[in-house]
Amino acid sequence: MVGSSATPQLPSLESALKHYFGYDSFRPGQRQIIEKTLQNRDQLVVMPTGGGKSLCYQLPALLKPGLTIVVSPLIALMQDQVQALQDNGIAATFLNSSLSGTELRERERAILEGETKLVYIAPERLLNEGMLSGWMAQVYVAAIAIDEAHCVSEWGHDFRPEYRQLRQLRQWFANVPIMALTATATERVRHDIITQLELTDPFVHSTSFNRPNLYYEVRSKHKQSYRELLDLIRQQEGAAGIVYCLSRKRVDELTSRLQQDGVAALPYHAGMDNKLRAEHQSRFIRDDVQVMVATIAFGMGINKPDVRFVVHYDLPRNIEGYYQESGRAGRDGEPAHCVLFFGAGDIKTVEFLISQKVDPATGEPLEAEQRIATQQLRRVIDYAQATECRRIIQLGYFGESFPGNCNNCDNCRHPKPIEDWTIEAQKFLSCIARVRERFGMNYIIDVLRGSKSQRILQNGHDRLSTYGIGKDRSADEWKMLGRSLIHQGLVDETTDGYSVLHLNELSWEVLRKQRTVAIAVLPKLIATTPAPASNQDTELVEDLFQRLQKLRKRLADEQSVPPYVVFQNASLREMAATQPLTNTQFASISGVGSRKLEQYGNVFLAEIRAFRQEKGLASSPQPQPIPIATSREAIALYPADTHLATFKLYQQGLKPFEIAEQRNLRLSTITSHLAELIEMGYDIPLETLVLPARQERIVAAIQAIGADSRRRLRDYLGEVFGYDEINLVVAWWRRNHPAQSSSSESQR
Ligand SMILES: [Zn+2]
Repeated sequence: MVGSSATPQLPSLESALKHYFGYDSFRPGQRQIIEKTLQNRDQLVVMPTGGGKSLCYQLPALLKPGLTIVVSPLIALMQDQVQALQDNGIAATFLNSSLSGTELRERERAILEGETKLVYIAPERLLNEGMLSGWMAQVYVAAIAIDEAHCVSEWGHDFRPEYRQLRQLRQWFANVPIMALTATATERVRHDIITQLELTDPFVHSTSFNRPNLYYEVRSKHKQSYRELLDLIRQQEGAAGIVYCLSRKRVDELTSRLQQDGVAALPYHAGMDNKLRAEHQSRFIRDDVQVMVATIAFGMGINKPDVRFVVHYDLPRNIEGYYQESGRAGRDGEPAHCVLFFGAGDIKTVEFLISQKVDPATGEPLEAEQRIATQQLRRVIDYAQATECRRIIQLGYFGESFPGNCNNCDNCRHPKPIEDWTIEAQKFLSCIARVRERFGMNYIIDVLRGSKSQRILQNGHDRLSTYGIGKDRSADEWKMLGRSLIHQGLVDETTDGYSVLHLNELSWEVLRKQRTVAIAVLPKLIATTPAPASNQDTELVEDLFQRLQKLRKRLADEQSVPPYVVFQNASLREMAATQPLTNTQFASISGVGSRKLEQYGNVFLAEIRAFRQEKGLASSPQPQPIPIATSREAIALYPADTHLATFKLYQQGLKPFEIAEQRNLRLSTITSHLAELIEMGYDIPLETLVLPARQERIVAAIQAIGADSRRRLRDYLGEVFGYDEINLVVAWWRRNHPAQSSSSESQR
């Protein structure tokens, strides 16, 4: 065994997390997965992009003796990940074709001597070059992680034949736990991964695919769309974005048009040579250009967390592709904007591309593939024309039911009128039953509207009781209802390409009058913009944030790494908001681990001090405020003077940040004062501190898991929510639900 002596003794997984990666708490699911890994269970981890998949094998690798092998399909991806790990002081390396013979031998030596904890390697290199029977046989392997595991499945969107060979790993490493990770979630692909990789009784973890920080919007495409795109890019003020087009030609055209209009944009598609593509990619990742205009060839393995917008200037080919591509926005958990331009002309283009799917040997059309692709295209059109919450449709595609009202898509922000269509739904569903669940939507609508088509007459369906009972509605209205029924799960549609409608449990509830059906009507596509992010940034914080970004870019360029490797945006934002002045304060920033503190602490602290000096603010550490009473009884009796001082300034109309500045206290101290005052019943309307939409989300979280632990609430809500706003809402909630909060108190 090797490597165990190098691991420091750490009291808990949380402290290990802070020590190696600088985070204070795990994201949903991570802790459980890590515990299972430490128990040597095989696992299938299904997590959306940006959910924190890689940490699930990286942290256990550091806690277990031996080497963890990470199978990864792309060279760029493994280099990025290894770079980020090394920057945290972690002994990680990769083996791939970019290395010289000498470099390879040096890395093999380090692995053999137990100096390396994680090695990233492509499947073909691991399996085809005699490595496993050769030098690797002498290494103690602790675990194997297979990233992008959906590549093993032909049903996934990115099948790679070399992934099929990974089945051999089970023979070489009979007792080593294998963790397969993917961001692709359809049932079929999951099943394929488990069987193809021969996972033994795997623990399957699947996180919600909801990405709450992404704002989804569909705009109709028309002559002014280019102007809209340009405005959208300019509104981003230099923040990075991706614009997807359907073809290489459109990529080239759009890039040069944007360049002429002064946008720093570069093209990316499979028609360019590898070297140029790699160059454009790295210029984008390093923030040297703002916009990447690309075909879908661009994206997989792009580990850039701070992409602020993804625009589909043309129609995507299927919902899953759209989810994955748009999901490249906002991986850092901060607000990001996903826009789809939808035009009828694009449907023709995609249909043409589908008709080109022919057997390369015979030239015969591949009918099954064409049929499935056509059905997938229809789901995209449905998505674009939908009137309900976009998330219901996207998540429904992955078999996840979402209640709607996400408040972060165009349809939720600008809802169409809701109408009760229960009677129409009963007619529709009963017609499906009458034709014995053997037909698709158009046929059902034809029967309802009394069509005299040959097919209906031949089938004798003109004699059904439902024939012609839907003449009062147009075919489009019936389609709107039918789509809505599918999205709401009130009827099933087969996915074999034939799209046959079947009744399910819920359909029968509607037919038995046990359930009403409400649908959003008026399918008009309205262009909208998302509401501003809810952070409490004042100009001062924004100034400092920009200054820290510049510092980060300079440090990153010096080391030739992408800026986010130095610090992610969220860490910079926290620095700008809390303005730490000591090493201890700096270390408490999320994303600052021991290595980053050592490497960057002084230079960032110096920048913050210089900034505060220029603004006439205290630039040396202030004495901490006197600890305030924290027991609820004490608070209930009297507020401390310091709370009253805060309240007085609040009454004068100052914002929390301004109070913090005036009182020379940290913002978090001021919000905790305000929270306690709210709980005590002081007149502080919550709306003045937390946006209503965010209040709602936090209240929903409290209702789901209780108000006892702010940390658990934060884990539940995700990183887009801060402790300050959670504190405030918890206080307000406790004030209004004294009975519930006291009962949870007594359980402690
Ligand atoms: Zn929504």
